[in-house]
Amino acid sequence: MTDQALITRLDNRLDQLVNIDMGERGVEHLFDAARELQGGSLVGAAADALMAVPRDGTVILTTGSVSRAWITPQLGENDGPSGAAAIARALVLGRNTTCIMMCEDTLLPAIQAVMVASGLFPVTLEQAHIARADKSLATIVMLPYPTEDAAGEAAATEMLDDLKPDLLFSTERVGRNDKGIYHSMRGIDYGMGRARIDHLFDKALERGIPVVAVGDGGNEIGMGKVADHVKAHVPYGDQCQCGCGGGIGAVTSCDVLVTAACSNWGCTAIAAAMAVRAQDARLLHTPKREALLLDTMVANGLINSTHGLVDDSVDGFERDSHIAIAELCRTIVSRALQ
Ligand SMILES: [Zn+2]
Repeated sequence: MTDQALITRLDNRLDQLVNIDMGERGVEHLFDAARELQGGSLVGAAADALMAVPRDGTVILTTGSVSRAWITPQLGENDGPSGAAAIARALVLGRNTTCIMMCEDTLLPAIQAVMVASGLFPVTLEQAHIARADKSLATIVMLPYPTEDAAGEAAATEMLDDLKPDLLFSTERVGRNDKGIYHSMRGIDYGMGRARIDHLFDKALERGIPVVAVGDGGNEIGMGKVADHVKAHVPYGDQCQCGCGGGIGAVTSCDVLVTAACSNWGCTAIAAAMAVRAQDARLLHTPKREALLLDTMVANGLINSTHGLVDDSVDGFERDSHIAIAELCRTIVSRALQ
């Protein structure tokens, strides 16, 4: 049996672990700001929100970043997909959730491959509902989201009306700034070929649907919550290089923000906190699965965006760092998972 005081201590340790600013991006400032705003562990609040999704409910997830869009829209980066896969898997196993993953149609094949490697079989929405009813198969529904401004805004209302999600989850998904421009961490406009899914999150917030978001840079969905701190502490947070007159900070906010030095680490920590709440070790994102997902991302051409290279480093951190984070998250929660 786990008591609340122990869970709180473990949540705080997970927060600390994944917010060590190894990439020198200023994430510690965003972490402090989000902790103060939310009044406690970020990872714990995210796990609480995800475990509060009604059993047999529906969650829309997004991740994926078109990288070097000026060369090809087929190219995605490898921070985001493995973390999103860890959360989708935990939701399916822990809450029997129908998980709907949305991204650009150009990135669907690679991200789908990562979902499969995490244990989820891609099906249509109708097929997912059959699987949910008899619990015979862990599934994922993959859907494209429009990449033009007007179509992206229009799709937001339609998708929420049709799918009636209980929660929206985003990790490492770039959102527009207050001038409507989507920026890289270097302050460049790289909105071309990019899904306008931040509009879906804005609309969900308007309707009071819970939104959980993970980010590591300040330009991602959810960072609107700490916009002033992105401006003050992140390179190009105040002034980009594209000439739009704004900074790289995303305007879209969230209910629960999780910062991390690498977004995938934030998701690994959330999955660990979900495992504690469910008292179910299957929800953990294990080192073995992280290794498999890193290999899968390489095999499907997702790039290490820091080095512009297809390899198993993520955000410039070597492969072993990501496997180690998964091991340390498991170690932190192990005393509450007997
Ligand atoms: Zn700009």
